[in-house]
Amino acid sequence: ALTAGIVGLPNVGKSTLFNAITQAGAESANYPFCTIDPNVGIVEVPDDRLNKLTELVQPKKTVPTTFEFTDIAGIVKGASKGEGLGNKFLSHIREVDAICQVVRCFADDNITHVAGKVDPISDIETINLELILADLESVEKRIARVGKMARQKDKESMFELEILEKLKEAFESDKPARTVEFTEEQMKVAKGLHLLTIKPVLYVANVGEDDVADPTSNEYVQQVKEFANNDNAEVIVVCAKIESEIAELEGEEKEMFLQELGIEESGLDQLIRSAYHLLGLATYFTAGVQEVRAWTFKKGMKAPECAGIIHSDFEKGFIRAETVSYDDLLEGGNMVAAREAGKVRLEGKEYIVKDGDVIHFRFNV
Ligand code: GDP
Repeated sequence: ALTAGIVGLPNVGKSTLFNAITQAGAESANYPFCTIDPNVGIVEVPDDRLNKLTELVQPKKTVPTTFEFTDIAGIVKGASKGEGLGNKFLSHIREVDAICQVVRCFADDNITHVAGKVDPISDIETINLELILADLESVEKRIARVGKMARQKDKESMFELEILEKLKEAFESDKPARTVEFTEEQMKVAKGLHLLTIKPVLYVANVGEDDVADPTSNEYVQQVKEFANNDNAEVIVVCAKIESEIAELEGEEKEMFLQELGIEESGLDQLIRSAYHLLGLATYFTAGVQEVRAWTFKKGMKAPECAGIIHSDFEKGFIRAETVSYDDLLEGGNMVAAREAGKVRLEGKEYIVKDGDVIHFRFNV
């Protein structure tokens, strides 16, 4: 499964946020196949459509889809030239598919800031710089190898060298790879270099309890948003401390608490959904009387591959995907009505599944 790694300087609220994630964690009974790793938090992806489908179908069981966060502890500063712990930090980042960087935007004199004062942009730059330096080193090594081949007029090497030089130039001016503009062909090669700074990034602005209802009044949040704009990254505002309280609640209690705070959705739920989209993930549903369930797929996947997410036999024996969009199903009120209205389609092997599709797979056993 794809995972988003949580990073940040010491004392910015990472552990508090990660605790909220594991608190809110998915019921393991539903996901017996999940490995138990203390650094991985599995959360259910909040999706109102699943609740509506449950009302509609009245199944015996409803199963949301899940998403994984990985806690990446370890030293940050000097990681790119460090050995041991620093290398470990970087290799953990290498393994995740997206980065959620927690940034301290709360003032609290009782909590020491590693750099002496609250300064979110400087914090972000500290971490980004380590990642950029590590990437610069990889690219320089690669240039030394590919450069030789390119001088011998090897076409592929010449193509790659141009990309490497472009990246090197960006790194030397402290810019991450995700801000470099490439053609589609170049991007394929760039992605193959397994760079750290090409991964999608989400800044998690951790604000104080008083700023939750109106985060725009927090000037640090404004700074982070501005920075993110030029950095090809997204921003989510949370109060990690409050999130850990919300995570202990469920259903009506949770709703009431959110109302008291004056917010519509918990920061954690926003974070889950943003990270999910950042990774290019989407959801389709299966809706039977036994079970209504949400499934995660990667945007662009075709019907048989999506069937394979449920079971490999579904993919091998794939015949057709009986498909109706969530909106059409809800408008019809039930499957029979949707079918009568001609909204249920029989899709074949080449069908590219869309977010919100409700699917019944037909297959040979
Ligand atoms: P980490 O080192 O990044 O994992 O940071 P921690 O999660 O351990 O948090 C460091 C300190 O900041 C702890 O004392 C937390 O209680 C506190 N803290 C974290 N989030 C908030 C917040 O939103 N508001 C306030 N006031 N304190 C927070």
